[in-house]
Amino acid sequence: MENQNLLEIFYKTNALLNGHFLLTSGRHSNQYFQCALVLQYPEYNELICKKIADNFKDFDIDYVIAPAIGGIVVGQEVARQLGKRFIFAEREDKILKLRRGFQIEEGKKYLVCEDVVTTGGSVFEVIDIVRNGGGLVSGVGFIVDRSNGKVNFGVPQFSTLQLDVISYSPEECPLCKDGLPITKPGSRTFTGMNK
Ligand SMILES: [Zn+2]
Repeated sequence: MENQNLLEIFYKTNALLNGHFLLTSGRHSNQYFQCALVLQYPEYNELICKKIADNFKDFDIDYVIAPAIGGIVVGQEVARQLGKRFIFAEREDKILKLRRGFQIEEGKKYLVCEDVVTTGGSVFEVIDIVRNGGGLVSGVGFIVDRSNGKVNFGVPQFSTLQLDVISYSPEECPLCKDGLPITKPGSRTFTGMNK
């Protein structure tokens, strides 16, 4: 699947929107991205995760591991395509932990999966969980790199889409200066502003 087709899928499902948006941080942006909106379609999840699975198919991998919640859908599908086991870490008192009897096996190799990486915080936490348990990290595969390539995990990494997120303080927002109405994604009155 070419990147252009991938972009079309993100636009078609309203996962990626162009317009004038109020972000939860209070800043304004010309782009809004919500990965869950594309992953609600299992057939698209399968297509997108195939790019990740294909990239790592020749790597030495025993397990796929992901941080909850966003990474679970991705990690499960990548693991299914690679024919590997899948475990996930979840937050307890704000710290990612393995629960439900999941364990890191010493000497085994792990592929970390995630949906969206902005600063990479959750992925770095999962990398620590694997290494602290005596496991090895073979790579990191994720759907969207919102850092546009700035985040470096120090292992082979692959993302299906790179986005450069531009945001403005309300005072300096050029879209406000142009008088464009602003939308708050996720609000009840929100409707997609896509072509
Ligand atoms: Zn604005």
